[in-house]
Amino acid sequence: ILTINNLTKKFGYLTAVNDLSFTIEKGNVYGILGPNGSGKSTTLGIVLNVVNKTSGDFQWFDGTVSTHEALKKVGAIIERPNFYPYMSAEQNLKLVCKIKEVPYDKIREKLELVGLLDRKDDKFRTYSLGMKQRLAIASALLNDPEILILDEPTNGLDPQGIHQIRSLIKEIASRGTTILLASHLLDEVEKVCSHVVILRKGKKLYSGRVDEMIASHGYFVLQSNDQEKL
Ligand code: ATP
Ligand code: MG
Repeated sequence: ILTINNLTKKFGYLTAVNDLSFTIEKGNVYGILGPNGSGKSTTLGIVLNVVNKTSGDFQWFDGTVSTHEALKKVGAIIERPNFYPYMSAEQNLKLVCKIKEVPYDKIREKLELVGLLDRKDDKFRTYSLGMKQRLAIASALLNDPEILILDEPTNGLDPQGIHQIRSLIKEIASRGTTILLASHLLDEVEKVCSHVVILRKGKKLYSGRVDEMIASHGYFVLQSNDQEKL
């Protein structure tokens, strides 16, 4: 779905992403794992065309379509969900449907998937943070994207909210949508992801299957040594 080759991003003298390469294949759940400032959001921003790369390149869908066209098949939440506070969840999603040129009947399907169908008439401002995040996911899924990109999807949520979002991500993946998420929590990647790209100061420390990472590097080593680095 996505190939990244030797991607580098510099902000002045700071190299936020340093010669990064990895591939996203259909049907898997990928985590980009790293501490604050390791380049996770910058990487997501570049492939979503909201941050300009310095060098290297990336290719969506084997380069068969332009990035602009490709991004129509990508759902992404890289900022705090931003909806009209005094409109209901359903009304907000209707606006998104108009923009994305998606039929309204998708709204019901997606609200049901994220568990908000019974709250569709409530105003967005009355939603909890977890509900807001689930609504954002419903919104990102309205056009049935091939891949869903999430930047720190459980940040700021309480344990129940975290659990709901993680279960939802797994449910979405089980229905065939590829997922790419950024997280600074090893625990999150372990629970949700099949594959991981570990970043430190913009450089790739590891990429591969999560189970193999744990088997080969040892959970203990990762906890004790890399956890400081991560
Ligand atoms: P976090 O876990 O805090 O979200 P991150 O892994 O997403 O971190 P990035 O936001 O990608 O990290 O930032 C990587 C580095 O690039 C950081 O040192 C950050 O300060 C720097 N950076 C990011 N955006 C900009 C910008 N617009 N201008 C200058 N420096 C930036
Ligand atoms: Mg970030």
